[in-house]
Amino acid sequence: MENFLDTDIKFLKGVGPKKAELLKKELGAFTFKDLLYHFPFKYIDRSRFYKIAEINSVNAHIQIKGKISAFRSEGSKYRKRLIARFVDTSGEIELVWFQGANWALKNYQVGAEYVVFGKPSIFNKRLSIAHPEIEPVGKYTEGEKSAFVPQYNTTEKLKSSYLNSKAIHGLIRNIFNSPNFNIDETLPPQLISKLKLVGLSDALKIIHFPNNSAEIQKAESRIKFEELFFIQLNLLKLKTGRQKKIRGFVFSKVGDSFNNFYKQNLPFELTNAQKRVIKEIRHDTGSGKQMNRLLQGDVGSGKTLVALMIMLLAKDNGFQSSMMAPTEILAQQHYQTLIKMLDNLDVNVKVLTGSTKKKDREEIFSELRSGRLDILVGTHALIEDPVVFSNLGMVIIDEQHRFGVAQRAKLWKKNNQPPHVLVMTATPIPRTLAMTLYGDLDVSIIDELPPGRKPIQTYHFRENKRLAMTGFLRKQIDRGQQAYIVYPLIKESEKLDFKNLEVGFDGMVQVFSPPNYNVICIHGKLKPAEKDNAMKTFKDGKAHILMATTVIEVGVDVPNATIMVIESAERFGLTQLHQLRGRVGRGGDQSYCILMTSDKLTTEARKRLEAMVATNDGFEIAEADLKLRGPGDLEGTQQSGIPFDLKMANIARDGQLLQFARNVAEEILDNDPSLESTENTVLMKELNRQKKSHTDWSVIS
Ligand code: ADP
Ligand code: MG
Repeated sequence: MENFLDTDIKFLKGVGPKKAELLKKELGAFTFKDLLYHFPFKYIDRSRFYKIAEINSVNAHIQIKGKISAFRSEGSKYRKRLIARFVDTSGEIELVWFQGANWALKNYQVGAEYVVFGKPSIFNKRLSIAHPEIEPVGKYTEGEKSAFVPQYNTTEKLKSSYLNSKAIHGLIRNIFNSPNFNIDETLPPQLISKLKLVGLSDALKIIHFPNNSAEIQKAESRIKFEELFFIQLNLLKLKTGRQKKIRGFVFSKVGDSFNNFYKQNLPFELTNAQKRVIKEIRHDTGSGKQMNRLLQGDVGSGKTLVALMIMLLAKDNGFQSSMMAPTEILAQQHYQTLIKMLDNLDVNVKVLTGSTKKKDREEIFSELRSGRLDILVGTHALIEDPVVFSNLGMVIIDEQHRFGVAQRAKLWKKNNQPPHVLVMTATPIPRTLAMTLYGDLDVSIIDELPPGRKPIQTYHFRENKRLAMTGFLRKQIDRGQQAYIVYPLIKESEKLDFKNLEVGFDGMVQVFSPPNYNVICIHGKLKPAEKDNAMKTFKDGKAHILMATTVIEVGVDVPNATIMVIESAERFGLTQLHQLRGRVGRGGDQSYCILMTSDKLTTEARKRLEAMVATNDGFEIAEADLKLRGPGDLEGTQQSGIPFDLKMANIARDGQLLQFARNVAEEILDNDPSLESTENTVLMKELNRQKKSHTDWSVIS
């Protein structure tokens, strides 16, 4: 028999074919369940009656009890309206109808007692309620009125088919009143009683038909817990399943490459955070399990160095490594860094990008297959089919948020036995979000910058301070420093981007004119070789100012550049601003970030800029970002491939509950990894049900 909740919405009492179509289109409600999970966005308190004299608020809905003392009509033609004087012992108020006057006149009697509910406002300088809900007092007390009236989101189209909030509430009532009504519990009874949760069916009933706010809170907790719990159960099960199924290469020894590098080539002490992370990775790679680890660390925290040392470890154990970066510039830069760091050591490193020449390509391929190549750095070109490794043991993915799940999976499959995978990101995400987006990965964090770095000083300048900005630039440049000036990419108009940059560039060349100064510009119209060339000029210290759209957003390392000017900073997101700022502050000199904006700012933009000025800490920035933006659009950046669609829980707000749900899921899986016990079959059933309703990515994550 079909599950009651999966019944097509068109079979619900009160929903014909036409309304069913509308509900599907406008609310995405295809089944009884969908409508049941269309939760109220707020409740209106009808638990008390106001005295008319008390009414002063012009916003909230209120409820009053009294009599209509008289009707009259005002206005003419289109502006005609019916007005009733409504009185109680404390005063009077007007009820107004712009439509349906005849109906009102016929149904409501002067002198009878009514309960009136609605939103008061000031109209013609008098307090009134337009289109109130009215019920005779007798009927009101008889009926099963709940104190809290749920309010549902609806749309113009729905409303014009009489599906307003109240009507939607009515339809939900019809679900509960259906003869074959039945909601299966999704959590084991033992768990429900242990955690003192409300049962699912009761929770849903309360949410749509509550009696008091304490009850609503308990019901909401149950639904939130369930949403977060199943995500965590899913992720953790995926992780343990993978660990059971997939063997990992064992890197058992630390050999010459690693040791020689450490003793001879490493120019500085590792930070404690770097040491800890290397230890964590060595533990993984020595365990016989395949590593899937996320390395988070702010820009400049020294992730690349960690990556290099891990790749040397792979070599010492007879394995090749590859390191993938999202852009050509970054791949080249990593390559240069590695070559420099590995000077005089017997490690064979090559770089492969879209622009690698055919002859070099052939050589790389042959060295890869023969096993002579130890480390291959590159862009997406790495995942193309002709790239065949002889023994790929370690895959490093830099700035991983730029790669999709599918691309990652392709790299995985370069071997019969999957390599260890380390994904690195400089975009810190708050713990709660990491637990959800990357819940199937182990997480390492570098939370310490190399010593001697001075915190970057950040300033917010409005347009009227442009002269001060260029004056400051000149002072710094004359002291031998270099500066970036970045313009936002405007998605809608590449032309406009270019224009802004071009105008800005002309302006800058006026201020910093040759031959004393060299200002260069990187933009989308340049060929890759020209871009690289410009980048190199800047890196070699032969240009004072580098102007660009966001092409330099990630990873570029020029220690002598100490000033980052961000134009139209209000157009950037918070994490993007932080990324850009991370381009400076890489050497020992004091660095600066100047955020240029127009004079008028939205509240949200202002908050972003304030956060930037207030802190340099990437994790604090990430928390602020999550609070400002909400987690909504982050669902798109979902990495594990596990679907999540939160209807009630909110990752930004429900962090504690999320942690709790994860702990509960962990405990259950510890005792019953495959969820085979009779107690847990209900969990397995729910996981399978959720999986069926989404594309299954789990095989490749
Ligand atoms: P990330 O990739 O995390 O942004 P990088 O690995 O590019 O950071 O490191 C930034 C800079 O800091 C590089 O110039 C690197 O050589 C240097 N660096 C890395 N680790 C240390 C350390 N322990 N002490 C001093 N400098 C370091
Ligand atoms: Mg980096």
